[in-house]
Formats: sequence, structure tokens, C-alpha cells
Amino acid sequence: MKKEKQFVVIGLGRFGTSVARSLHRSGYQVLAVDINAERVQKFSDEVTHVVQADTTDEASLEALGIRNFDVAVVAIGDDIQANVLTTLLLKEMGVRYIVAKARNFLHGKMLKKIGADRVVHPEYDMGQRVAHNLVSTNVFDYIELSPNLGLVEISAPHALVGQTLVGADLRAKYAINIVAIKRGEQILVPPSPTEKITAGDVLIVVGQNDGIQRLEELE
Ligand code: ADP
Repeated sequence: MKKEKQFVVIGLGRFGTSVARSLHRSGYQVLAVDINAERVQKFSDEVTHVVQADTTDEASLEALGIRNFDVAVVAIGDDIQANVLTTLLLKEMGVRYIVAKARNFLHGKMLKKIGADRVVHPEYDMGQRVAHNLVSTNVFDYIELSPNLGLVEISAPHALVGQTLVGADLRAKYAINIVAIKRGEQILVPPSPTEKITAGDVLIVVGQNDGIQRLEELE
């Protein structure tokens, strides 16, 4: 059965197609829109509906019944003007949740100001993830929560193996919190303070970036 929430993805570049495809595979209704007929044609078998339209044109958006969608993803990349105009129109038409892709921070700021609920910087975010992964091979993933706060998924450093969470005292030492421990199939969330860290554990940690970095540098 199809899930309830309805998504519209605008702009079928690399980012947009990836978002649309993933949502569709997860069982959601997805309308994909692009101004380019060739891209529309290419993507036609992949999601629920694909339509050719210029989303900077209010009448075209109206015709698509855009206001009925729960979530809109504005994935127009290079054309900042089209990206901003589309976001503005979607907002005015009352789309409940708008995610917009920004090319740079100023663009991101503008998108927030005109009402995007969430702004994503895919290249910047991926760059950070890769950098964290290069600093320490123990790091599986890093997500920025704010400019100086992050969430990291890290293989338990040897230095911590055998210690309890209270004993390791990471909160006092590095101002970070272990919010969950992945152990094989098991996920301990929240982990008990008396839980001992074992070899092979994966720690999910939230904290200031400098604390996270010091954890990443532990052997
Ligand atoms: P990426 O960097 O994710 O690959 P691109 O900039 O290559 O993104 O792709 C953006 C897509 O947005 C293109 O397929 C382009 O045709 C589409 N697009 C650009 N302007 C509009 C518009 N006004 N209306 C709808 N789609 C648009």
C-alpha cells in the first residue's frame, strides 16, 4: 500500500533524482518536475508521476495542484534565481514543508528568509563527512547539527574499551555525550551509565566539534 505523505521534487539533476528515487522506493507518492523535456522523459519510469513544467511560473504550479503536497523539495541547482523564485511561490501557495537546496551560504540564508523550512547544502555536508572520515578511519559518519555542534558515528577507540560510560567520563573530558551504542544487531539507547564499552562497539556521539575531534583522534 502507498504511504500517505505526498512529495513533489522539483529539478531532476543528480540531487533531485536521488531524492525522488529514494522516496519512491520507500513507498511514497512522488511527483517529479523539471523544465527539461529530455530529463522528464528519461525519468518517466522511475516515480509515480513526472511532469514537464517551469516552476517559476505561478500558473504552471497552480495547474500541478502544488498546494496539496505535504513536502516539496526544491532541487534546482545552478539557476539560483529559479531556485529562489520556486521556493517563494511554493511558500506563498501554502506548501506545508519546503526543503531547498542551496549553492552557498548566502543563498541558504536567503532561502531561510523566504520561508524554506529546511535548507540543505549537499556538497558542503558531504565534504565535511568525508573530511571526518579521513581524519579518523574509525569514523563512519558525521552530521553537522550547527556550525560547532555535530553528531558522529564512530567505532569505539581502543583506549575506551573495558571502561564504563561513567568511568570514561567523556562528558567532563570532551563535553560530548554518547547517546547510543550499536553492538552487532543490538542498539542500546540510551545506554546505561554503567554499560561497559566493548571492542567492536559503534558509538553515536553528540557534542561540540572540538570534543568530537579529540575523540576521533583517540587510538
Ligand atoms: P544537480 O547539481 O543536483 O545535478 P542541476 O543544476 O544539474 O542539479 O539540475 C537541476 C535541474 O533543475 C535540471 O534538470 C534543470 O532542468 C531543472 N530546472 C532548472 N530550472 C527549472 C525550472 N524553472 N523549473 C523546473 N525545473 C528546472
